[in-house]
Amino acid sequence: MNKYIERVLEETRAKNPDEKLFLQTVEEVLLSVEPLINAHPEYEKACILERMVEPERVIEFRVTWMDDQLQYHVNRGYRVQFNASLGPHKGGLRFASNVNLDTIKFLGFEQVYKDALTCLPIGGAKGGSDFSPIGRSDGEVMRFCQAFMTELYRHIGQDIDCPAGDVGVGGREIGYLYGQYRRIMGNAEMGAMSGKDIKTGGSILRPEATGFGAVYYLCEVLKHDGQDIKGKRLAISGYGNVGWGIMKKAAELGAKVTYFAGPDGYIHDPDGVVTDEKLNFILEMRAKDPMHCKPYADKFGCEFVEGKKCWGVKDVDIYMPAATQNDVNMDSAKLIAESGVKYYIEVANMPTTNDALEFLKGQKQVLVAPSKAVNACGVSVSELEMAQNAERLYWSAEEVDAQMHKIMTNIYEASVKAAEKYGLGYDLIAGANIAGFEKVAEAMMCQGIF
Ligand code: GLU
Repeated sequence: MNKYIERVLEETRAKNPDEKLFLQTVEEVLLSVEPLINAHPEYEKACILERMVEPERVIEFRVTWMDDQLQYHVNRGYRVQFNASLGPHKGGLRFASNVNLDTIKFLGFEQVYKDALTCLPIGGAKGGSDFSPIGRSDGEVMRFCQAFMTELYRHIGQDIDCPAGDVGVGGREIGYLYGQYRRIMGNAEMGAMSGKDIKTGGSILRPEATGFGAVYYLCEVLKHDGQDIKGKRLAISGYGNVGWGIMKKAAELGAKVTYFAGPDGYIHDPDGVVTDEKLNFILEMRAKDPMHCKPYADKFGCEFVEGKKCWGVKDVDIYMPAATQNDVNMDSAKLIAESGVKYYIEVANMPTTNDALEFLKGQKQVLVAPSKAVNACGVSVSELEMAQNAERLYWSAEEVDAQMHKIMTNIYEASVKAAEKYGLGYDLIAGANIAGFEKVAEAMMCQGIF
């Protein structure tokens, strides 16, 4: 291994011994950019790696709020502003009970390279809280969001840092957060938050963007192999915003999601989630109770397998993990390899453990695509929302969709080219890491010490 990478990895482990998720992504990225680091000895003198693994700023704060029974609660809020060399910090907020600083640092680190891959002028950040909106009333969610923003507002702004949604933060939460920001600031600085409702400055297609973009990326992968998405069967995990977008776009293009998994087990619908009735039912089911997908099986008379994930099913063409981090471990990876399915397209942030990823990459018949590239359309349309807000204009669905296509095709092509340039062949993971990393590193070199 390159000695510089080895040293920085050791130092990073020593400095952050308890941050397992953060160390997982740092190892994955640094090891895969080795050919780039070998080709740029000047990076070591400029401490590029040391700076890459150290956030520009870590903000941690107390959020005190009151529930419907007038009980006080205290949660922890975070914003990790990782790297703004390419533009204002940009990235989502995650509200979930398992969120801690480690989670936000891992997501923030990934966001830097994802945002760089979009070729849009945005840096990388992430934030969130260990508050979960699940089971909370609208009033409770609003009071929490207002309390959260009452602290966060001083750290963000359209040219500083523009938060958006992520797990547990959808249109409702963004609305309350942005409303409080506007109230405190006393002005309509719309570009300070993205993912807003279209009624309040949001972009058309933002809710669908991540899922749609993942399917556009998949189309490029299939095209490379002389194939079409039409007729393809997909197995996915997650049926949140992203999973739902995949189902909808796949159906529009003549493919179908025949398996999807939730926290309680997985659904097998051989006809696919293709009709409006089914797609709408999923939206309602999720709004009522995001922890159970079984009601879909009850409603449409299909199979539900309790407590299991759908990795390893054979009667599909493509797997797309779109739920959460480390969804696919070594056991699942072995089942995936045995199934004979050729495409493993990551969608959720870091859905595969590092050992499972290494194992899958080593399987000649499996093509692996990385989440950093595949899910980048969400943040891209967020940036297009910032652009629309700055222009004081709304773009049409056609305009936004055309940009989405262009961005996702560019990301795919840039990844292919970067891997080829460094003699790695057709390697979409290393290609994406190198293309994103190089853009950030070069911008840092231009800006001197920061
Ligand atoms: N949370 C999303 C992501 O992981 C979206 C971020 C954004 O729109 O800023 O990229």
